[in-house]
Amino acid sequence: MHQLLQGVYDTVVSRNKGEVEFHQAVHEVLTSLSPLIEKDPHYAEAGLIDRIVEPERQIIFRVPWVDDQGNVRVNRGFRVEFNSALGPYKGGIRFHPSVNGGIIKFLGFEQIFKNALTNQGIGGGKGGSDFDPHGRSDAEVMRFCQSFMTELSRHIGPNTDVPAGDIGVGAREIGYMFGQYKRLRNSYDAGVLTGKGLAWGGSLVRTEATGYGAVRFAKNMLATRGEDLEGRRVVVSGSGNVAIYATEKAQALGAKVVALSDSAGYIVDEAGVDLELVKQIKEVERGRIKEYAERKGGSVQYVAGGSIWDVPCDVAIPSATQNELDGAAAATLIKNGVVAVSEGANMPSTPEAVEAFQGAGVLFGPGKAANAGGVGTSALEMQQNSSRSRWSFETAEAALDAIMDDIHDSCAATAEEYGRPGDYVLGANIAGFKRVADVMLAHGVI
Ligand code: NDP
Repeated sequence: MHQLLQGVYDTVVSRNKGEVEFHQAVHEVLTSLSPLIEKDPHYAEAGLIDRIVEPERQIIFRVPWVDDQGNVRVNRGFRVEFNSALGPYKGGIRFHPSVNGGIIKFLGFEQIFKNALTNQGIGGGKGGSDFDPHGRSDAEVMRFCQSFMTELSRHIGPNTDVPAGDIGVGAREIGYMFGQYKRLRNSYDAGVLTGKGLAWGGSLVRTEATGYGAVRFAKNMLATRGEDLEGRRVVVSGSGNVAIYATEKAQALGAKVVALSDSAGYIVDEAGVDLELVKQIKEVERGRIKEYAERKGGSVQYVAGGSIWDVPCDVAIPSATQNELDGAAAATLIKNGVVAVSEGANMPSTPEAVEAFQGAGVLFGPGKAANAGGVGTSALEMQQNSSRSRWSFETAEAALDAIMDDIHDSCAATAEEYGRPGDYVLGANIAGFKRVADVMLAHGVI
C-alpha cells in the first residue's frame, strides 16, 4: 500500500478500535487506490483520504420497547451518515443481533462507493439495530419499529438521508417505520424511505433489484469471456430478499440453482430449486430453509451447519452476510471448477477468498458493484416519488439493467486503465472513489 494511504489506514485502526469489519473494508479500498495516487497525486491533497474514511455524522440511540409479555426491552440504534458529496445519504437499515458500530460503519463506507458507481446522485450511509426480528410477533416488530423511527425521524428526510431495507428489514418493517415517520411529521414525504409497498410510493422491481442485478453482473462478467449463464450450475447462499431474486433471475436465464441456505444450514436440490416453495416458506411463513427439504422429501438434502460452498457449482452468488465465504471455502469452490463469483451480499468474501479467486482467474464481482442494483433502483423509486409518477415493471427493469451494465463497463474500463484488466475490485474502488473525490474537492474542506 502507498505510504500515505498506509498512514491513513493506521489512523483508522487506532481511532476505531476493534471494528474489524470496518478496518477490512477500508483496507481493501485503500489498497486499490495505491495506483491512482501514484498516477494522480492530487487525489491525496486537501486531506481527501483522511476525510473520506471519517463519517460526516454518527448517531447512536436507545430504542426502548415493550414485548408481548409487558417486559421493557432496550436495544441500540445506529445511523452512520458517511458521505453526502453526491447527494442525500442513502443506505439500508439492518436489524440483526450482530449489529454494532463497526458493522454499520463498514456498510456505510462501502455504500459511498457503491452509490457513486450507480451514477444516481446519492451519498452513502447505513443504519440498524441489534434487535432480532426472528421469533417476534408482528405487534412486537411494530412497536420496535415505531420506537426506532421516533428517534431516527429527527435525522432523516427526502433531501437529507433516505434509508431502505437490509438484513431483517423488509416490506413489513419499512411499512411500520414509514407510518410512524408520517405520523410524527404530519407530512406524506414518500421519498424519505425506499423499499415501500407499491400502494404507497414503492417502485416495481425494487424488491427484485439486488438479486436481479447481481445475476446481471455475473452475466456481464461471463460475456467478457464469450460465455453465459445458460445451463450453468449455480449456488446461492442465504434465502432472504437477495437470494430469492438472484435465484429467480438465474433460473429465468436458463441456469440451474441447486442450493440455498439460512443461518442454520443449507439445502441441495439437484432437480433445481422450487422457488415458489422457497417464497412460501420464507416470504409468507417466515420459516426455516430446512422445511424445504421436509416438504419436498425425495432426494432433497438438508445439511445442518456446514458450508454451502462445499456444493460444486459453476457460478456462486453469496447473498447472506459479511465474511461468509473464507479462504478454505474459496479453495473448495476453485477445486470444484467455479468460473464466476458475483457478490449479492456486502463483503461476503474474506480478503483471503478474494485473493484466491483472483489468483485462480475466477471472474470476481465485488458486492459494491455486483449488488448495487438494489440501491440503484431505490434511487429510481426516489425519482418516481419526486415526480409523483409510477413506472411499469418493464421500464424499471430496463433502467436497472442499464445501471448494472454501466457499472460493469466502468469497473472493467477502470481496471484496464490502471493496468489490471479483469480486476473488478480495483476497478470498482477507483471508479467509485474518483466520482466522490472530484466532488469533495469541488466543495472545499467541509
Ligand atoms: P434478508 O434478511 O432478507 O436475508 C438474509 C439471509 O441471509 C437469510 O437467509 C439469513 O438467514 C441469512 N443470514 C443473515 N445473517 C447470517 C449469518 N450471520 N450467517 C448465516 N446466514 C445469515 O437480507 P437481504 O437478503 O436483504 O440481505 C442479504 C445480504 O445482501 C446482506 O449482506 C445485505 O447487506 C446485502 N444487500 C442487500 C440489499 C437489499 O436490497 N436487500 C442491497 C444490497 C446488499 P437467517 O434467516 O437464518 O438469519
